[in-house]
Amino acid sequence: MPEFDVIVVGAGNAALAAAVSAQEQGARRVVVLEKAPRELRGGNTHYSGGLFRFAFDRAEDLRPLVPDAETHIPGFMTGVQPYPRAMFEADLMRVTEGRTDPELAEILIGRSYDTIGWVAAQGIVMEPAVSLSGIKVGNTIKWSPGAVVRARQEGVGLSRMWFDAAERRGIEIRYETTATRLVQDARGRVAGVVARDPQGVAELSATSVVLGCGGFEANTAWRARYLGRPWDHAKVRGTRYNTGDGLRMAIDVGALPYGQWTGCHSTPIDAGAPPYGDRKLTDKTNRLSYPFGVLVNTRGRRFFDEGEDFQLYTYAKLGGIILGQPGGVAWQIFDDKVTSLLEGRYQTGKPATADSFKDLVQALPVDRAACLRTLEDYNAAAESGVFDPTLRDGLAASRLELPKSNWAQRLDTPPFVAYPVTGGITFTFGGVRVDDHARVMSTSWAPIPGLYACGEMVGGLFHVNYPGGTGLMSGAVFGRLAGAHAAGA
Ligand SMILES: Cc1cc2nc3c(=O)[nH]c(=O)nc-3n(C[C@H](O)[C@H](O)[C@H](O)COP(=O)(O)OP(=O)(O)OC[C@H]3O[C@@H](n4cnc5c(N)ncnc54)[C@H](O)[C@@H]3O)c2cc1C
Repeated sequence: MPEFDVIVVGAGNAALAAAVSAQEQGARRVVVLEKAPRELRGGNTHYSGGLFRFAFDRAEDLRPLVPDAETHIPGFMTGVQPYPRAMFEADLMRVTEGRTDPELAEILIGRSYDTIGWVAAQGIVMEPAVSLSGIKVGNTIKWSPGAVVRARQEGVGLSRMWFDAAERRGIEIRYETTATRLVQDARGRVAGVVARDPQGVAELSATSVVLGCGGFEANTAWRARYLGRPWDHAKVRGTRYNTGDGLRMAIDVGALPYGQWTGCHSTPIDAGAPPYGDRKLTDKTNRLSYPFGVLVNTRGRRFFDEGEDFQLYTYAKLGGIILGQPGGVAWQIFDDKVTSLLEGRYQTGKPATADSFKDLVQALPVDRAACLRTLEDYNAAAESGVFDPTLRDGLAASRLELPKSNWAQRLDTPPFVAYPVTGGITFTFGGVRVDDHARVMSTSWAPIPGLYACGEMVGGLFHVNYPGGTGLMSGAVFGRLAGAHAAGA
């Protein structure tokens, strides 16, 4: 008889959802293997904003998740617009340029509302994601579509609450334990793992194994191999432990690589951010208010339509675009009219400040003459109209060679500020193919018996770009499925 019913590799949102789900569905002996020591546990989930994107038909559907919202935010429900499945689908299709796998997308979106309720039922307390997706207009807060709710205390809270939920169910968690290889029986069924811990190397047997151990964003050699330059030099926004181990182990037993292996999620972050995620700063190095300003590179030129769409639909590709600029850096420039709209996270930054464009560009290590020209040309092209941060306001600077499509107000109110940014990698898009039971498919397109995957390891959903809040939702949906089916449900 195997030692465990289910071995779960990893201890982030996806893996812990799988472990809890397996136990809930009848697996009695569930063990979680976490590569990190206890004080660094929880993968990218710990560093995340804790934001979940899910489909719902009426604002009222949020009430069970955030029952106190109206008390803390009077009029909360009025500012929320419904986000039916069709809208989620359209967003995912649009930002991935039509490449998302429709079968996986259907599982993710179709199960998103039910799963967020299940997550909450496990003791994950939710709250409105004010600082991430709320914009105050008069007395009402308007919310970015579909991305309204996050875990209380963001990723730090989410991770802690998942560990608490697992521990309450008596699930064993082994820290500093790295799965290094999958074990197969003579019939090809995955029957356990080989794991390394401070005591040595041991084989652990199980009826099923769930891999929820992240992508390869923290592996410089794999970044160079699959993403190419300049990703080898990218700062990692989260954990240093996601080095592609699960992908390697799965592919070694015949798993089908799937999705965009040259793609990743990466965002504009403070140019001075540390090389790996900081446990206390977590996602506070993000700089996502660029739709309200102008973005220039060291050549003093714009290189991106800052107003292409709401930030949550463009931020995940912008990091890579910035990293591809000379020196991998850029500056976000704002005037005083919009500084009150900048996300609170900007308070962790040190902008250059000046009362004129001339003085501002003097303070920046850019081609100053070109930068001055860029700012003046932008102002000359900015059309008149009504600026509205809560909708795609169509206030454009369309005469420019590179237009700005929305929120293109003139920069005319000093002081002007310039925040230095670079591109930080969040997670990689390449993964393995799973089916509707989260079973890992082999290169023969048949499930590998006994093997399941979830979270960042699932390939095929994200290509080129990503709608904010979808990673945690996907982790919860496929984690829950993986755990339940691994338990034999
Ligand atoms: C700064 C930041 C902010 C983010 N904000 C959001 C957000 O607000 N909303 C959202 O949806 N997404 C967000 N994301 C993305 C989100 O965090 C990830 O999509 C999600 O955490 C992935 O979950 P996961 O469980 O697959 O991986 P992780 O949470 O990264 O967990 C992987 C686990 O596997 C372990 N591991 C790795 N290799 C091994 C091995 N060989 N053996 C044992 N264990 C191993 C790791 O230590 C870790 O515990 C953010 C990410 C970052 C970095």
